[in-house]
Amino acid sequence: MKIAVIGSGIWGACSAYFLNKEGCDVELYDMWGAGNSRSGSGGASRIIRLTYGDDKIYTELTNNSFKFWENLSNKSERKLYDECGMLWLVSQEDNSYITKSKKHIESVGHNIEQISKKDAKERYPLINFDDINEVHLEKKAGALMASRCCKNIVRKFKDNGGKVYLGEVAIDEKNLENKNSITYNGKNIEADKYVIACGPWNRKLLPEMLENTTYISRQEVYYFGVPNNKAAEYNLNKIPCWLDLNANNPSYYGIPFHLNKGFKIAYDERSTKFDPDSSDRVPLPELVKRTKTYLYHRFPNLKGLPIAETRVCQYENSLDGNFIMNYHKKNDNVLVLSGSSGHGFKLGPGLGEMVKNILIFNNEIPKEFNLERLNCEGTSSQYYNAQIKYKEKKRLFN
Ligand SMILES: Cc1cc2nc3c(=O)[nH]c(=O)nc-3n(C[C@H](O)[C@H](O)[C@H](O)COP(=O)(O)OP(=O)(O)OC[C@H]3O[C@@H](n4cnc5c(N)ncnc54)[C@H](O)[C@@H]3O)c2cc1C
Repeated sequence: MKIAVIGSGIWGACSAYFLNKEGCDVELYDMWGAGNSRSGSGGASRIIRLTYGDDKIYTELTNNSFKFWENLSNKSERKLYDECGMLWLVSQEDNSYITKSKKHIESVGHNIEQISKKDAKERYPLINFDDINEVHLEKKAGALMASRCCKNIVRKFKDNGGKVYLGEVAIDEKNLENKNSITYNGKNIEADKYVIACGPWNRKLLPEMLENTTYISRQEVYYFGVPNNKAAEYNLNKIPCWLDLNANNPSYYGIPFHLNKGFKIAYDERSTKFDPDSSDRVPLPELVKRTKTYLYHRFPNLKGLPIAETRVCQYENSLDGNFIMNYHKKNDNVLVLSGSSGHGFKLGPGLGEMVKNILIFNNEIPKEFNLERLNCEGTSSQYYNAQIKYKEKKRLFN
């Protein structure tokens, strides 16, 4: 079977890798290359964790991905995965996101344990726990070196005979049922099946399918410069990855000092529109100020530290935070992967293997990813960010 995968972010790269490994003739196309700086999969690092509220499917997909990441990292010259664990700080009253996760995490053989604030203070003296209600530690979790991982997978795909093409692919969605509707350099891409995995560009390529069901939001990431000779005090051996669940403010999260970059902090908020081609990628002064206020409160020892590096990127959100995996209604040889909603990196390998099983072995697409769910009101996801209501999102982004 000949398959063309468009987009070599983590979803396209992993799909191409597994399809090629199964013996398919696979071509992988990307406008700027795997893990490029504009893509959702660019940048230094991403968190991998099993905690997902009641959304068991993501716990399972993540669990299915661990072995792949461990092998990839072990066989790579440079470290790609650091299993440093993850600390959940619950600032809000509602702890159900954690409690609902527990049974699903245990069902895949791991756990998340609550630790007392007293213990937490002793173990992690850099963190201010005063306004935190509960602390939970997830041991089977950590940091993935994002862009490196993506490039590494594409290298493996190539080594195994996969073909990689750099440049823009055009899709004529209006005529997608026709053979010549997917082109590269003006020529048809001939294939039996197509996988479209263009992240935030999906809705530009397939507006009929995705304009009313996805939106792109602007996100800022900061690396704070730790004092000279003190990197060891702020690194992943001392503090794991962390996320502060907060219903009233954005939920901040971070990956302490890694890759000699700095102390990473970002926030989970999806309220500002972003265009992956034309929007400036420069932090906004009011958001920098807000982040510093938060960071200096939560990590008082870091007070006054400067920002060493920043990054502005985007989430490709579905309206309810769940992924979208659907054949295009005009052509059932075109499988569309969309709506990674700010949490799609960690489970790329699990998802890529699922795509292989769907395309080659005719496995069913999980109902959770069916696009139809978004055509009726209401949200089906337990995903922790429910800050923007469903109707509000439609108003903001369409
Ligand atoms: C700040 C931030 C923090 C995040 N944190 C986490 C985290 O901690 N854990 C986690 O699991 N996830 C996290 N995510 C989400 C995760 O990074 C994304 O869900 C994931 O990387 C999306 O991958 P993708 O393959 O769908 O899209 P992308 O990586 O965006 O890939 C799409 C690719 O398509 C290519 N393309 C686009 N148009 C065309 C075209 N016309 N022709 C050819 N190629 C084209 C692009 O060049 C790009 O390489 C975070 C995201 C951000 C922005």
